[in-house]
Amino acid sequence: MLLNPTLPVREYPGRTFGCTCGREHSTRLREMIIEAGALSKVPALLGRLGFARPLVVFDRHTRKAAGDRLMAILKEAGVPFDFFCYPDEELLADEKGLGALLMALTPENDSLLAVGSGTINDLCKYTGYMTHRPYAVVGTAPSMDGFTSGVCAMTRGDMKTTLQGTMPLAVVGDVDVLRLAPMDMIQAGVGDILGKYTCLLDWKLSHIINGEYYCPAIAQMMRRAVDTVAANAAGVAARDPAAVTAVMEALVLSGIAMSYSVNSRPASGCEHHISHFLEMRFLFDGRRPVLHGRKVGVATVLAAHCYHRLAAQQPDFDGAAANVVSFDFDKWAADIRKAYTRAADGVIALEQSAHKNDPERIRARLASMKAHWPEIREAIDELPSAGAVERMLRDSGAPAYPAEIGVEVPLLREAVCRCKEVRDRYTLWQMLYDLGLLDSYAAEAAQRYGKTE
Ligand SMILES: [Zn+2]
Ligand SMILES: [Zn+2]
Repeated sequence: MLLNPTLPVREYPGRTFGCTCGREHSTRLREMIIEAGALSKVPALLGRLGFARPLVVFDRHTRKAAGDRLMAILKEAGVPFDFFCYPDEELLADEKGLGALLMALTPENDSLLAVGSGTINDLCKYTGYMTHRPYAVVGTAPSMDGFTSGVCAMTRGDMKTTLQGTMPLAVVGDVDVLRLAPMDMIQAGVGDILGKYTCLLDWKLSHIINGEYYCPAIAQMMRRAVDTVAANAAGVAARDPAAVTAVMEALVLSGIAMSYSVNSRPASGCEHHISHFLEMRFLFDGRRPVLHGRKVGVATVLAAHCYHRLAAQQPDFDGAAANVVSFDFDKWAADIRKAYTRAADGVIALEQSAHKNDPERIRARLASMKAHWPEIREAIDELPSAGAVERMLRDSGAPAYPAEIGVEVPLLREAVCRCKEVRDRYTLWQMLYDLGLLDSYAAEAAQRYGKTE
């Protein structure tokens, strides 16, 4: 069967689809149960997955949210299990968190059942991968799209890093639990989803400009889920079950989309580059971290503004190509050292292998951009305006400007200028850099969104 982007989200797990893009699409995720009262379906689910004696993992917060009820349900159904409750107030997916989980695991635990969202999910995902145990997750907050991704966000030696993990075999989201999650976490989920507007556009434009692999069916599947969340934004603020369901389904679908494309293109683009840069700087500066999806949300407003600004102007492609002089690596590396400080070595090494800023490559991209400009403008037309994205965030009660999460003009300007170096991924920022417009766009956008007044 060909991948049909209009199926209900629950129809995607456990199946393999052919596709007009020429590839086959499948996911390791076998089941997803997102509904009110879903916890009561976990015993039968564990039976279908063949989990004989899972280690159920939570912390004190997620134990209260769902862990205790889940254990009562498992006991009543006669399902054997062990459990581990993290005592930490500020749990991190780091050496200590991982060590504690490993020491709780026994040879009899053939599987892991995570009860939580970001950190607990990452710890179980990584432990499952390293110990060859399957795992499933009971989500307690619809806060980020990492439930069903194959990688985990870990902290090693105080540095954020992405490590290989294992995909869960099942995701459970009990809407009675999810809707009572802390409101800022639900709003963060909305932000992470609205970010797909700009990342899907980045992906399509890289296909048009660079011939990168792109699947229209995956993009359409994701876009539909994002539009549903956008239409339900006001319901989020009211903890409306239908709105919370839409957010959780979109987050799970995002992981499925990444499995289908075998990279994170459908889930992460220019808005995530800004978020990653800010996360790193907050960490290095010893500032209180801001939820991932909150950063993604405010970055999406700014990116949508820059995209539409670009579409409204007729760039001077030939002038830009003539201005691409040789790439001054030493000057660039000095700027990177200032912006990335402790993480600069990795960023510099990436450029040395990826050559994103090589003048020859820039000129080739500019020529392609010039040839495809009408098509590029048409694609940008499909993107909601910055004002529309701002309204979606505000309807959900979330902040919409970087200034509202403590990112003011100088840091914001630096983020827009430098964040593209964090990955080898063509996005809006590389496009503006190639056109010689990145610095001026960064200055304008920082003035606009780096102040609350
Ligand atoms: Zn496809
Ligand atoms: Zn994200």
